[in-house]
Amino acid sequence: MSPGGGPRLLLRRLREIMAEQTSAQMRLDKLVSVIASNMVAEVCSIYLRRAGKVLELFATEGLNRAAVHNTRLKEGEGLVGLVAETAEAVNLSDAPSDPHFSYRPETGEDPFKSFLGVPIVRGGQVFGVLVVQNKAERIYAEEEVEALQTVAMVLAEVVAQGGFFNVAELDEPELRADRPRKFMGDGLSEGVAVGHVVLHEPRVKVDRMIADDAAQELKRLEEAIGSLRQSVDQMLVSSELDLTGEGREVIEAYRLFAYDQGWRQRMRDAVRTGLTAEASVERVQDETRLRVQRLGDPILRERAHDFDDLARRLLRHLTGESGQQALSRDAIVVARNMGPAELLDYGREKLLGLALEDAAATSHVAIVARSMGLPLVSSLEGIADNARAGDAIVVDGESGEVHLRPPVEIVAAFEEKRGLRVQAQARFAAIRDMPAITKDGVAIKLMMNAGLEFDMPHLKESGADGIGLFRTELQFMIGETMPRLADQTAFYKTILDAAGDKPVVFRTLDLGGDKVLPYARWEREENPALGWRAIRIALDRPALLRYQVRALLAASHGRTLRILLPMVSDVDEFNRARAMIDRELERARLLNQTRPTQVLVGAMLEVPALAFMLPQLMRSADFVSIGSNDLLSLAFAVDRTNPRVARRYDNLNPASLTLIRLIVQSAAENSGDLSLCGEMAGRPLDAMALLGLGLRTLSMQPGQIGPIKMMIRSLNLGEISSFVDRLCGRTDHSLRTRLAAFAAERGIVLK
Ligand code: PEP
Ligand code: MG
Repeated sequence: MSPGGGPRLLLRRLREIMAEQTSAQMRLDKLVSVIASNMVAEVCSIYLRRAGKVLELFATEGLNRAAVHNTRLKEGEGLVGLVAETAEAVNLSDAPSDPHFSYRPETGEDPFKSFLGVPIVRGGQVFGVLVVQNKAERIYAEEEVEALQTVAMVLAEVVAQGGFFNVAELDEPELRADRPRKFMGDGLSEGVAVGHVVLHEPRVKVDRMIADDAAQELKRLEEAIGSLRQSVDQMLVSSELDLTGEGREVIEAYRLFAYDQGWRQRMRDAVRTGLTAEASVERVQDETRLRVQRLGDPILRERAHDFDDLARRLLRHLTGESGQQALSRDAIVVARNMGPAELLDYGREKLLGLALEDAAATSHVAIVARSMGLPLVSSLEGIADNARAGDAIVVDGESGEVHLRPPVEIVAAFEEKRGLRVQAQARFAAIRDMPAITKDGVAIKLMMNAGLEFDMPHLKESGADGIGLFRTELQFMIGETMPRLADQTAFYKTILDAAGDKPVVFRTLDLGGDKVLPYARWEREENPALGWRAIRIALDRPALLRYQVRALLAASHGRTLRILLPMVSDVDEFNRARAMIDRELERARLLNQTRPTQVLVGAMLEVPALAFMLPQLMRSADFVSIGSNDLLSLAFAVDRTNPRVARRYDNLNPASLTLIRLIVQSAAENSGDLSLCGEMAGRPLDAMALLGLGLRTLSMQPGQIGPIKMMIRSLNLGEISSFVDRLCGRTDHSLRTRLAAFAAERGIVLK
């Protein structure tokens, strides 16, 4: 077969069919007939994917018509299933003899030997399969495969945009871009949000897919690539950005991609098949994404994000779109991932929630979302490609459910849930001024975690006893430049003034790992979670700690200053940092500068090795706070920022509880002041176990103070202590179910 009239003519015919006013089925029927004749094929069929990954024959020219809507294949079943599963073209001269061939008598495909099937792809997802078949045994030429792929792409895009089919007639095939979709992810910040999608990396809308003039399109493509390259070159020389280390590497990798000849050539080839420059960029990007997804390599996946970004920039060069978007009053941001600074850029007034593809529970974007009180769900694979700007969306940060384009009943159900939450909050507010005392009379201290100025009103609203963890690095991370001494002093003073009589524990800069400053020179490390972090940086670069301490001393004039040192690994490290603090205090005294009445210095217990040094540590530390996020991540050898493994262990594993029990006992034997400020403290079931282990001070996100207090007031501490003690001896992967059953039996409130 030689393409009858070539792909460009075929695309033109496609466009005519699209413009016709007929039913969806008739258009599909016409389409297969036009493709068959243009490609001189005896058979042309379209299979579309329905829910449950079933591929259904939707139209055919050449097979039995009676098979339409009757022949169905599962993904991976038959050659059509193979195309859908692998997302690759299958080109065979003798299809019936292939082991994947699945014979379907109702189709009457017996006489057809050669088979060419290509996936119908959009946004990195396979929506169906387009097939041509011939009686004669032959392998289809490369240009024929290319031509069929181009047709499949146009078909996917047009159908997905809803401009081709009257979708209602098609009984909900998977392909409909406007159909409701439910995603199940991990709820990382509680709350229910009902609003509309704002794409963090908006998909550039391509209106024109089929070219009028190929030479003109090629010229447009070349010009756009030229300007893209220029703008990336510009990034590297820009003195404003002053890129070094990892930042520079990223942009250099970008630059390599921008100059990649293979990429350019693939886009040029796509233009030659009759697509517009924009459609060609999309097509090549879809293919790249699919290839990377199949390889499943996390590093390549990251690179693919870079490539996505580059393709988006190229599309913007072509369409002239700026990429800036206006936020509606009920915006819910959808993105692959996002940094904490980017989240703050959106501001709190208009944002209702977040739906991300891959952020881990203890990632900084999650921590900031919690502190902003924004519901966040992550691990939502494919949502960024599926969502369109302005789509209705529901995000439930508690159950991890996200509904895209939900029917009205779903919206109503979630509105109701939101209402119930408001009522629950009213109940929490009612106990705000009541003490956190267990049924058997033990008082628990409930502190809150904070890091930004807008956290401060929560101190009063939540009824917290003080701030148990103030993450000072957040203020450094959101700025464009390193805050100067005077700015730092003013900031800490604002925080202390807002706290009034309540204590504030300032943690010194906890940088490194996943926390990098946008403006600092950072050397790339193989293993940043185990690398140059927190107190290690402070001891190697003492100026950073010294200036921060100086600011804290000045800000705490006339009050007690509490300083907490992060990621301490051994007592000597703590002592050296403490000596630096003492020197600063002495300096302030000699210079007769304003200073606190008292300085208390504590250590974060995040490195498991330190758990065995508490008797010695307690001699020099005024207090110790368990950072369970890092402690357990390091104890289980799991990178907490890597969503692939972050959930592999449960905090309520017998080993975690045994480790924490050891710490509590050791601290008590040495009369140490111990608290816990990791995310566990804010989860009622986890917190119940922690109290059972002997902890009496917990610091958590402010929104959780109410629920935790409810739990405490319904708890008998004696009972839970002996129960948790017994649980430590078990071998379960997680003790969650047993603890929940215990709570249910005794009417302990966990909501
Ligand atoms: C922790 O590790 O538990 C902790 C509170 O510190 P961060 O989450 O800021 O690392
Ligand atoms: Mg930590």
